[in-house]
Amino acid sequence: MDEQNADTEHHVTITERASSFGYTEEVEMEVMSEHDGDIAQEEELHKVDEHPMELESDVDDSILSRKADMDAQARKKILEDLAEENFKRGNKVFIFPTSIKSDQIIELYLNRSLSTLVNEPEVLLSGAFNGWRWNFFTEKLHKSDLNGDWWSCQLYVPKEAYRIDFVFFNGGDIYENNNSEDYFLPVESRMNEEAFEYFLLEEKQRELERIATEQAERERQAEEQRRKEEEKAAIDADRAQAKIDVGRKREILQRQMKLATTSLENVWHIVPNVFTDGKTVRLFYNRSSRPLAHATEIWIHGGHNCWSDGLSIVERLLPAEKKDGDWWYADVVIPDRALVLDWVFADGPPQRAIVYDNNSLQDFHATVSKCMSEELFWVEEEERIFRKLQQERRLKEESVRKKAEKTAQMKAQTKESTMKKFLLSQKHIVYTEPLEVRAGSTVAVLYNPSNTVLSGKPEVWFRCSFNRWTHRNGPLPPQKMVNAENGSHLKATVMIPADAYMMDFVFSEREDGGIYDNRNGMDYHIPVSGGILKEPPLHIVHIAVEMAPIAKVGGLGDVVTSLSRAVQDLGHTVDIIFPKYDCLNLSNVKDLQFRQSFAWGGTEIKVWFGKVEGLSVYFIEPQNGMFWVGCIYGRNDGDRFGFFCRAALEFLLQSGSHPDILHCHDWSSAPVAWLFKEHYRHGLSNARVIFTIHNLEFGIHHIGRAMTYADKASTVSHTYSKEVSGNPAIAPHLYKFHGILNGIDPDIWDPYNDKFIPVSYTAENVVEGKKAAKEALQQRLGLRKSDYPLVGIITRLTVQKGIHLIKHAIWQTLERNGQVVLLGSAPDPRIQNEFVNLANQLHSSHADRARLCLTYDEPLSHLIYAGADFILVPSLFEPCGLTQIIAMRYGSIPVVRKTGGLYDTVFDVDNDKERAQAQGLEPNGFSFDGADSSGVDYALNRAISAWFDGREWFNSLCKRVMEQDWSWNRPALDYIELYHSSRK
Ligand code: ADP
Repeated sequence: MDEQNADTEHHVTITERASSFGYTEEVEMEVMSEHDGDIAQEEELHKVDEHPMELESDVDDSILSRKADMDAQARKKILEDLAEENFKRGNKVFIFPTSIKSDQIIELYLNRSLSTLVNEPEVLLSGAFNGWRWNFFTEKLHKSDLNGDWWSCQLYVPKEAYRIDFVFFNGGDIYENNNSEDYFLPVESRMNEEAFEYFLLEEKQRELERIATEQAERERQAEEQRRKEEEKAAIDADRAQAKIDVGRKREILQRQMKLATTSLENVWHIVPNVFTDGKTVRLFYNRSSRPLAHATEIWIHGGHNCWSDGLSIVERLLPAEKKDGDWWYADVVIPDRALVLDWVFADGPPQRAIVYDNNSLQDFHATVSKCMSEELFWVEEEERIFRKLQQERRLKEESVRKKAEKTAQMKAQTKESTMKKFLLSQKHIVYTEPLEVRAGSTVAVLYNPSNTVLSGKPEVWFRCSFNRWTHRNGPLPPQKMVNAENGSHLKATVMIPADAYMMDFVFSEREDGGIYDNRNGMDYHIPVSGGILKEPPLHIVHIAVEMAPIAKVGGLGDVVTSLSRAVQDLGHTVDIIFPKYDCLNLSNVKDLQFRQSFAWGGTEIKVWFGKVEGLSVYFIEPQNGMFWVGCIYGRNDGDRFGFFCRAALEFLLQSGSHPDILHCHDWSSAPVAWLFKEHYRHGLSNARVIFTIHNLEFGIHHIGRAMTYADKASTVSHTYSKEVSGNPAIAPHLYKFHGILNGIDPDIWDPYNDKFIPVSYTAENVVEGKKAAKEALQQRLGLRKSDYPLVGIITRLTVQKGIHLIKHAIWQTLERNGQVVLLGSAPDPRIQNEFVNLANQLHSSHADRARLCLTYDEPLSHLIYAGADFILVPSLFEPCGLTQIIAMRYGSIPVVRKTGGLYDTVFDVDNDKERAQAQGLEPNGFSFDGADSSGVDYALNRAISAWFDGREWFNSLCKRVMEQDWSWNRPALDYIELYHSSRK
């Protein structure tokens, strides 16, 4: 530090200290000097003294009290002057000090005689700060000792105040309120109206955070309590187990102890013949006329207490110089806590022995003298067993915890890298600099119109707002974009407000509008981080008839559950309304309880509530037995599901729920769209209807009607949305129709945490994991346990799934020396029959290499996904398809026909490198066009050859597909966008 700076430092210190005492020499001088000194003096007199204790050490007492006297006199004089002057002017109110600074105490004076309160015995002040927005207060005024009818009170002005608003009253209904205009005083402060808005938002956010923290703490305590109870229950269980174990042991040992002796005449004896545990004894064995009479070596294999700890003694015997027989001996240490010594003799150590003398299958048993009472021994034994059980349990818990940690960590990493990819994937159209948009910062938005409707326009205008167009300042004025340095993009610069959580924008060709690029009606949205406000959650209600794992028939069931979980994970509220089928898999419903019932549609409708995979599910059970038919589909479905949709809406209305989004699926819950618009739009006025087509093949009439009524519609992949866009049910509604790819739930499909496969694996040990799974699969299905390329097929056996291609592929795989496993069931009995015949035929011709399992078997499907090298999906059409996605999660390579979602998720290693790259991906499988056998052969032959020809490459492909993220991380964001766009 140089000298000048040192000086400055010094000066600052003195000033700070002086002001903290409440006065300085300088101030005193100013007070003496007339008018403007008044203010300085006033300020000092009203400063909130934060360090009163520091007075004593530095300042002399007598000087201090003299100064205080002078201060009081000066103060009184100023107040008297102010009172007189204000009275003369007819002012009812004055304050001291005359200008207000924040973080100060002021005094307010009212001249009662001039006010409406002239005859009132009580005078009170009622007010708040900043335009009556904050910190309301009421103070009692006291008659002051100034001349005239002046009443006063003190008031602390907080540092957040920029104005004070107040009125006086008598404690009842007589007010002195400045002729109905109220009084207000400006406060000199760092706060202003704009900053105060932010302060309020921050305060609200802090309050929400406080509530959230308290809630989290309550949950933590509840969790802690639960953990303690579990721990206690575990201890009790281990104690009980130890008791049982020890009882069993004691019984066996007592039986054994009866057989134990101190010697066997002319066969064995021990020296000394009385011994205790821990001692070394010499065991003699006479092998003449025994099985080991001619062995070259003699060994003892021993243990204790009925072999309770297994083999613990192994010694080689030496010849003994003893007469009367062929005696051998070994020195043996008696194991701790032995009551009985158990052993056999053999002609070698454990791995080499062939001939044994095991006392005619009874083994030998010697009695060990006890060092302690038998009761004490068993008490100790029980304790030992208990401790062992405890330790085993701890180790198990620890490994479960570690696994959960790793799972969470991998999940977070995937999520983060997908988010980054998502932001970058729009780069050819729009991106920001910096990529992460932070509240309170300035960012550049770069836009390339050449791929949009604004291509070739001479001007582009940027129109932006925040918080999904709801920001309190409204949209920013349109901004003409300028050329960016990179030559390809246009640029606009935006200041992100501190309370933004989302940046929203569109582009137009003119300042006043014209043609817009609003991303097909969705607008552009970029999340803003670090803001003082968080996005308010949406309340979404799914009305659906399938849901994994309680009632799943196909992909629809998977999607309802996994989409809901992903959206819930993003902080939104999700409920599901579901039929209470009698065939529900109730073991997967937690805490099922009756909620309410209401009369509707000529019957009583009971509503139940339970948790499924962490989701809140309301079960609708009409007492007319509509869902007591033993199946999900196949019994008057139109009527049953129509009734269910209406009952679901009725339940929402009756329970006073106000969801933002009603999401219905396929023809089965399509009626929600028009029933809502026709009957419930007013009662559930907040809601918008989203309709998702999972398969256009069924119930087209219902689908067409729902397309008309829904606010937004989607289908389950981009390519399928294009494939069906010409359908008359869809074509008129393309403006509100979007393709959003399905994802899978990474917790439900997770080879690292899958109880149906033998070895947990991630991309790192995929080869080892899949090898074990393949062996288990071969074992389970009775296939030859050898390293073949294994093709798996998991499907509903319907025409859609390319039945003739599946059959061809089975034979082709066998032809190429592979193994095939098919898991599938056919709703159509004729098709089921065909496959039963094929299964029989294969059983006689290729029993060791082909197995068709013609049932629905969820656990087996997991083992096939893990154990197969390839999963074949030759569908004739496929809206999305989940099997190829699940396959990749398990490191199996998809072999697919290029249609619908199969086209969007599988990129051929030979033909789709560029298409994959455009999505930031690497190729991940094999695919084919056409719908004949040569198409299948083209893909399957390349796949199997790749397996035979380059296992290293093949293994790296397995690793690569596992690392790709086909979960809901990305599509869930698209659904949230769709939900929001329906609310615009
Ligand atoms: P779809 O919905 O047309 O049947 P998807 O590929 O979208 O086809 O979804 C099929 C889902 O059903 C996947 O989760 C798949 O594992 C499962 N699945 C299909 N057939 C069976 C079966 N026989 N046993 C077990 N799971 C099956």
